[in-house]
Amino acid sequence: MNFEITDKDVMGRTGRLKTPSGVIDTPALMPVINPNLNFIDVGEMKKIGAQAVITNSYIIYRNRNLREIAVEKGVHGLIKSDIPVMTDSGSYQLMVYGDVEIDNQTIVEFQNRIKSDIVVPLDIPTPPYSERERAERELRVTLEREREAIELHSEIGDDRLISAPIQGSTFMDLRRKSAEEVSKLNASFFPIGGVVPLLDSYRFQDVVRIILEVKSVLPPSAPVHLFGAGHPMIFSIAAALGCDFFDSAAYALYAKDDRYLTVYGTKKLEELHYFPCNCPVCSNYTPDELRKMPKKERELELARHNLHASFEELNTVKQAIKEKSLFELVESRIRGHPYLVSAWRIIKEYEETLELYDPSSKQGFFYTGIETLYRPSIKRHHERMLNLELEKDSYLISTKENSDFKLIPAFGVVAGEFYPAGHAEMPEDEYVEDEAILEGLKGLLKFLKQYSNKSFKVELSRRWFKILSLHRIELPDNAEVILKD
Ligand SMILES: [Zn+2]
Repeated sequence: MNFEITDKDVMGRTGRLKTPSGVIDTPALMPVINPNLNFIDVGEMKKIGAQAVITNSYIIYRNRNLREIAVEKGVHGLIKSDIPVMTDSGSYQLMVYGDVEIDNQTIVEFQNRIKSDIVVPLDIPTPPYSERERAERELRVTLEREREAIELHSEIGDDRLISAPIQGSTFMDLRRKSAEEVSKLNASFFPIGGVVPLLDSYRFQDVVRIILEVKSVLPPSAPVHLFGAGHPMIFSIAAALGCDFFDSAAYALYAKDDRYLTVYGTKKLEELHYFPCNCPVCSNYTPDELRKMPKKERELELARHNLHASFEELNTVKQAIKEKSLFELVESRIRGHPYLVSAWRIIKEYEETLELYDPSSKQGFFYTGIETLYRPSIKRHHERMLNLELEKDSYLISTKENSDFKLIPAFGVVAGEFYPAGHAEMPEDEYVEDEAILEGLKGLLKFLKQYSNKSFKVELSRRWFKILSLHRIELPDNAEVILKD
């Protein structure tokens, strides 16, 4: 296997992907290199944090000069670097222009010939909200081309990676089918394609749903690439859902339009009075100084900042996976845009998938708001409390200290020694959302029913008592409720 997973949190993971040109630590961002342009060189990108780059084999193939260099020196010689290089096939051009002057076999053989580390077949990225018939037809063609590419690749028999992009537009059953079919192929890299128009129009809900559908079909060991995702505001969510690779043309495209990337969204240079960043660019210049620079220079500096901001976020994500605080990170990042909030709330519908992936061994638990209630550890705690050996005949459960069991929002009945419930940090009862108290009451209810042969005194603060009455929750006969303030 090329891909080794080292740490896990939520559905995300850190890992290592082996390629002929070296190992890539994941989650990874591959900046896009335009072989026609003399922009930031790969050496500098490497310093900023890039361990791999992506370039376009179709552009190289079509330009005689570039093609000759690539054939002679390999794609690494062309971009003057020895780090892993993924090559795209012209599929993007196919989506934008509707046609390309190349066929699948030619472009796959060409990528093999120029020694690309990750080869991409000429798949068809069907745009979102296409006609169903078109999405089905193009998916069939994509699958045929993927089979052909893998066959061509296996004839060479070296250890370069061959990818099998997943398409299907916004039809979730087609996305699942696409993922099922590519799982059967001998591919080693799995890009989720055709999502750029969704990302550009902030349709994060669709993106989240597509990733979740695909991930519930693909084997957990498959390295997944969210093709075309290059804005740092999406990294934490996408990584939390199990995406291991991103690629960024955004750093350059946004810089061209005087746009400045942050994890909370995009700023226009003209709006900036201060730089909320301390990268070499932002600490060397003021926004005003940057505005006064000649266009070409300014573009370069903005692109540099955009790369710094992107790699910084990637490191933040990796650290969060390592310390198992990725839920906390995502819940704070989604505040950057209301559509990110609604997108993340979709995970409610995928409880089982999340339960399958999210590791249960967590020490810390920070409550950050309503979305915290969707974390699997809450339901897991409810379940866990149903398997206790209770020796006494009667117990005191209370929202205050000094009781046999404490009653806390979300988790419900808690014994102090349990992780993460016994050590959860959350706002005081008076300030936490009603929904968190309600979730706690649900846990309490299950607990009381489970131990029906024991008797319980349940001391509730006014807040808990109010929510209990409001939702007309009736506790079973073995519980005596006492209002205690
Ligand atoms: Zn900066």
